[in-house]
Amino acid sequence: MSQKHEARSAGGDRLDLQADCGSCFGLCCVALPFAASADFAVDKPAGKPCTNLQADFSCGIHARLRDKGFSGCTVFDCFGAGQKVSQVTFGGTDWRSAPGTARQMFDVFPVMRQLHELLWYLAEALELPAARPVHKDLRRALDETDRLTRGSADALAEVDVAAVRQDVNALLLRTSELVRATVPGRKKNHRGADLIGARLRGADLRGANLRGAYLIAADLKGADLRTADLIGVDFRDANLSGADLTGSIFLTQAQLNAAKGDASAKLPEALSRPAHWR
Ligand code: SF4
Repeated sequence: MSQKHEARSAGGDRLDLQADCGSCFGLCCVALPFAASADFAVDKPAGKPCTNLQADFSCGIHARLRDKGFSGCTVFDCFGAGQKVSQVTFGGTDWRSAPGTARQMFDVFPVMRQLHELLWYLAEALELPAARPVHKDLRRALDETDRLTRGSADALAEVDVAAVRQDVNALLLRTSELVRATVPGRKKNHRGADLIGARLRGADLRGANLRGAYLIAADLKGADLRTADLIGVDFRDANLSGADLTGSIFLTQAQLNAAKGDASAKLPEALSRPAHWR
């Protein structure tokens, strides 16, 4: 969370969808609830500041989050929603100096995060040459979603995020089909599959449909995941050491951060190697 994100090399529209914690009022550290678990050392209700949040909205244990039992914070990615709510929706006025706005700011943040996540996927789809037949529709959806993110706090609170997500998902599905069709031969379909702890070392998953699959703690060492659709895959504690993820689509930094890996894994250009993989 606060301050933890390094710059990534996303192209074009995706540059604006990276967390800039220095321009944010620590929203993930306040607005979101934590449940004491392997990921968070303590319970914290939504709306209550994390005890590690400093007066300047930085994180007091940023460099030691994993050692201190807050690995969940290192996995979270707001896709730039935090600074948008802080600087655009609320014009740079923070919740400490204007406590009357705090509740609305915290309510709007999860809405903005979901919209920004959709913007990330749409921007990625627009970078994919194989998806050219749907680029016009993708551009229209991106512009409309972007317009929603620039509305007032009241307008944002009224956004039907589920409906927006459904419309965007239809386009992302079509994009996925077009992109994976470039891979010759039969492609595996593990959409939504329970692959928890699966032994997939060295597996050929090129062009596979893994949308929403549960790959928690799966062994994917050396697996070929090129051009696979990885949207919503749960990679918590999956081992991606030596795996090839180049050209995979709809993979996010949060998914990578939740997985294990090493220096030899190959990643999509827009994502960076998590610090704990080095
Ligand atoms: S909400 Fe986003 S920008 Fe703000 S502190 Fe959290 S990760 Fe950083």
